[in-house]
Amino acid sequence: MHSGIAASEGVAVGTAVVLKNRAGQPAENAPPGRAAAEEARFAAALAAARDELALLAADLAARVGEGEGAIFAAHIAILDDDELRREITAKIAAGKTAAWSVQAVFAAYREAFAALDDPYMRERANDLADLADRLGAHLAGDAPSGPAVAGAAVIVAHTLTPSATARLDPAATLALVTATGGPTSHTAILARAMGIPAVVGVTGIDRLVRDGDLVIVDGRRGLVAVNPDQATLAAYTGRAAVRTAPADDGGPAVTRDGHRLALWANIGRPADAGRALRHGAEGIGLFRSEFLFMDRASLPDEEEQFAAYRQVAQAMGGRPVVIRTLDAGGDKPLPGLDHPAEANPFLGLRAIRLSLAHPGPFRLQLRAVLRAAAYGDVRLMYPMIAGVDELARANALLAACKAELAAAGLPHNPALPVGMMVEVPAAAAAAEIFARHSDFFSIGTNDLIQYSLAVDRLDENLGHLYRPLDPGVLRLIAMVAAAALAAGKHAGVCGEMAADPAGALLLLGLGLDELSVSPASLPAVRRLVRAVTLAAARRLAAEAMALDSAAAVRELVETYLREINIDI
Ligand code: PEP
Ligand code: MG
Repeated sequence: MHSGIAASEGVAVGTAVVLKNRAGQPAENAPPGRAAAEEARFAAALAAARDELALLAADLAARVGEGEGAIFAAHIAILDDDELRREITAKIAAGKTAAWSVQAVFAAYREAFAALDDPYMRERANDLADLADRLGAHLAGDAPSGPAVAGAAVIVAHTLTPSATARLDPAATLALVTATGGPTSHTAILARAMGIPAVVGVTGIDRLVRDGDLVIVDGRRGLVAVNPDQATLAAYTGRAAVRTAPADDGGPAVTRDGHRLALWANIGRPADAGRALRHGAEGIGLFRSEFLFMDRASLPDEEEQFAAYRQVAQAMGGRPVVIRTLDAGGDKPLPGLDHPAEANPFLGLRAIRLSLAHPGPFRLQLRAVLRAAAYGDVRLMYPMIAGVDELARANALLAACKAELAAAGLPHNPALPVGMMVEVPAAAAAAEIFARHSDFFSIGTNDLIQYSLAVDRLDENLGHLYRPLDPGVLRLIAMVAAAALAAGKHAGVCGEMAADPAGALLLLGLGLDELSVSPASLPAVRRLVRAVTLAAARRLAAEAMALDSAAAVRELVETYLREINIDI
């Protein structure tokens, strides 16, 4: 087994097709007197690439989702960058060919991005390589095309660009495996949105696999097996059925013994609410508001935020919508706010800490959420709460905002529920205390696991230590669920653990009221809940908390899931 980074859920078994990256270097120097002609070729290639990207963005937005289409809108924005164009045309004016100039300038930007500390920005190097390839192909007179794959196959590549990923036909692509990339690469994001299992960052895999090899891709564990032995193959062939899950009715998730679990969706943009509803979301458990704040030089004002939050509230038609206040800092730096350099950004001025350090912008967000709450069942949630004092300070600002809105006669809902994310282990252990100060809990397992096991959630080399099913993590979650139950408060989970079948089953058994997952994951979680009993889930959860290790817990739960024919 080769291990990499689990980038997109699901298991697939199939024949490999290895994509070779484009070879061939363009000539550096143009013949004398060709500068004007080369510049015209560059302008034509730019226009053709722009048209192609606009089509691709529209196609992807319609086929997969608005958010995914936006990836290529961002590519257009890069092409429109004046500085980049100037650098290329300066090289052409100095006698270089258009193709060489494009490659040289993009390579310099790519290197600069690849050297950045921020993993999200590092991943953008792949987007630049993709654009350089696209322009290069137009300059060579051949428009880039997708890989020619006969029948359904497992695609293996050194690096797969977002364009190449977007062109893949999900029906013909069993899975993706790449030697490079991280979980926040656009390739990984697209694979998840398209429902294609993917493992990225499997060093050397493109040199190891040959066309026609039999490959198992385990997109949940981040494992890849090449020409596996019979035992491994037998263990996996049952699981491969995940790719052909039956159609979903979008109805309620009720266990066989009659217990209803609320299934809500996580979204990052207002336009995602439609997808959530199409997959049967009964609410929005997490609206990650930071996407409104990213990729721009200035902060969104109150009106812009109000419009976005109201759009979600109205789209959800009275269903609960949990809007999380800005969760910037950590891996999500914010250009519009002052931020000190930090040795450990995940342990630094992040999330609620950053908002409390900037009460001006924070109040604008609170006002916008209060106003949107007049248009639906909007609930406010603070991220990464570590102390009751943070809740008190945030709520004091909230009270001031309510008073201002009332004085100004602006419609708002002063009674909106106010909850907190449980992401800090100390807050989980003290949930009983926090339940006195919070209307609801939503457990952010992505961070709770990172902080309780002391494993950087983004570090490609530590993936094997990031263990959602660790008995210690389960015990922390159990404390939160028990405290909520005792206080009569709602408790959900909005981290990725809720989308893993074993994780979802244990969370049900631990007593959570609601699971919130990406819209695409809703059908599988619904199917799981309907296949089990609450009694069995409770028994397994109790047993799991007493086991020695995450591996033992996984074995216990997956044995049960196999017995009841659930694909894992
Ligand atoms: C989490 O930490 O589990 C969570 C849902 O928040 P984010 O992934 O945005 O940090
Ligand atoms: Mg989090």
